[in-house]
Amino acid sequence: ENEELYCIGCGALIQSTDPKGVGYVPNSAVQKKGEEEDLYCKRCFRLRHYNEVSDVALTDDDFLKILTQIGETDSLIVNVVDIFDFSGSIIPGLQRFVGDNPILIVGNKEDLLPKSLKRSKLRDWIRQNANMQGLRPVDVALVSAKKNHMIDSLLKLIDKHRNGRDVYVVGVTNVGKSTLINQIIKQKTGIAELITTSHFPGTTLDKIEIPLDDEHFLIDTPGVIHQQQMAHFLSGKELNIAVPQKEIKPKVYQLGAGQTLFLGALARFDYLAGEKKGVVVYVDNNLMIHRTKTVNAEVFYEKHAGELLQPPIAENIEKLPKLVRFEFKTTQKSDLVFSGLGWITVNADTIIAGWAPKGVAVTLRRAMI
Ligand code: GDP
Repeated sequence: ENEELYCIGCGALIQSTDPKGVGYVPNSAVQKKGEEEDLYCKRCFRLRHYNEVSDVALTDDDFLKILTQIGETDSLIVNVVDIFDFSGSIIPGLQRFVGDNPILIVGNKEDLLPKSLKRSKLRDWIRQNANMQGLRPVDVALVSAKKNHMIDSLLKLIDKHRNGRDVYVVGVTNVGKSTLINQIIKQKTGIAELITTSHFPGTTLDKIEIPLDDEHFLIDTPGVIHQQQMAHFLSGKELNIAVPQKEIKPKVYQLGAGQTLFLGALARFDYLAGEKKGVVVYVDNNLMIHRTKTVNAEVFYEKHAGELLQPPIAENIEKLPKLVRFEFKTTQKSDLVFSGLGWITVNADTIIAGWAPKGVAVTLRRAMI
């Protein structure tokens, strides 16, 4: 039978196709459901049983509705970004939506960047890049949600800037917002304390509210998918190789004009013109990097993608979109960024090209390090 089922927690239509979407229940659980039994979606289930939040992705429309509602409140906005994928973390128009409410930027995944990089410098870099995106944060914090690092300081900073108001936490998916919220829940209220929920008007989605010390709340909001992330083209094991899990050890390559680097089969870097100088690669330590001549690169890729050049492995190479080329000229020390995969730092006065699977953003920015 084809009856439509709804989550009795949040009211969302139950679906079994998109684990990151609203109303997800694994097919097996839907099948097992008895006549009388009620169904909770995965998100509500985890919330009820483990007091744990998980992120669900919203449509752009619902996300904009929620941002508009947040703009009508008097609150502190905490915008979580992934410092490893800064431009992939940007919520377009956030400053406009939140109006006069102050924005605190939290740079998460701090554990991935070299320890030698001064944190004050990194915060300055985040602030400057936020400004370029039209964001004017009142403050910038750095944390590692996964390592539970600097969460205390973040909570102090939030208390300072919220000034007795509510706090809304916003972010695109994959920046680590759920991991961060779960750390905060542990520190703030303890795992035993229940979280109250209520709907965002006009959407099927619950607000997850964490009580603060006064009458106010820290409110988790659903994320919106950022389409241009490498993560969308990889799964499981491959993602673990492509996405760094711990502190990146930068690798230096002395490249001359006419040389190419392959980052697995996922990305390609051509050094087209410039002095023979070192470029520095910031990607997962286990990702295989291969050097070849640019003239041979196309043939090399055809021959070795999925074998010598991994990830993805051979059987998944068909699913990977074709690499698309972007050319840049550098006028200052710059990073060529492959969204979600990492970046390559090059000097001023070069011409370079970056290739990534169709749909993954390749951008140039002022060097972070
Ligand atoms: P959300 O979609 O924003 O809620 O993101 P998640 O909390 O589900 O995290 C997305 C991915 O980033 C997961 O693989 C996490 O393990 C990882 N992650 C989250 N926080 C950190 C962090 O502080 N450091 C690192 N290295 N990875 C993190």
